[in-house]
This record gives sequence, structure tokens and C-alpha cells, in this order.
Amino acid sequence: MKTLNPNDLGKKYLVEECQKIRIEDFLEICRNKMKELIINSELETLGIKIELTTSKTYYNGIRLWFKCPLCDRRIGILYKHPLINKIGCRGCLNLEYRKIRYKGMIENNLLDN
Ligand SMILES: [Zn+2]
Repeated sequence: MKTLNPNDLGKKYLVEECQKIRIEDFLEICRNKMKELIINSELETLGIKIELTTSKTYYNGIRLWFKCPLCDRRIGILYKHPLINKIGCRGCLNLEYRKIRYKGMIENNLLDN
């Protein structure tokens, strides 16, 4: 069976009429798969079972996130609670920042002086 060559068609087609296959797109996919593999292997090494999730960036890229094991939300920072040993986001573990906790104390000290 003879295969069809582009010149056999008798008409030139436009690049816009063809599906475009760009090396950059494949590199982006590979980069993200590699990142995900590396993060998963690092988490496994630490003995942490955390799922990863993605979101699309403005320029068709993909951003990786942790998935909070307690609320399933996309998060960039996980915490391990010192007492209950659970891993989750700040909200789920009911954590607060030091500056908020001591705000009242500083104000009280200023009033004392
Ligand atoms: Zn959470």
C-alpha cells in the first residue's frame, strides 16, 4: 500500500490548518511530572502521606500544591501539630501566628509603662 505524501495532495495547506506539536509543551509536561515524582518520593522518605494537586496558571502552566489531608483544600504550607501529631493546614490544626498571640501582651506592657 502506497503511503500519501504531502506533495501528492496537489494543494498547499496552511500551518494554521494543522495540529501544532510544540517541544515546549512536552517539556512543560515532563517538568511537572518530574516535579511531582520528586515531591512524592521526598514525602515518602519523610514518611508523610500527602496527596498533591494542581492548578492552572495564567500562561497555561501547572502549579503543584499539597492537598490538606483534613479538608482537601489546595495549600502551599503544611504543619505537623506537636501534640496530636496530625498533619494539615493552619486552619484545620487551629494554629495562629506568634504576632497575633502576643499583640495583646505588648499593648498591655505599653499601658503599664
Ligand atoms: Zn485543612
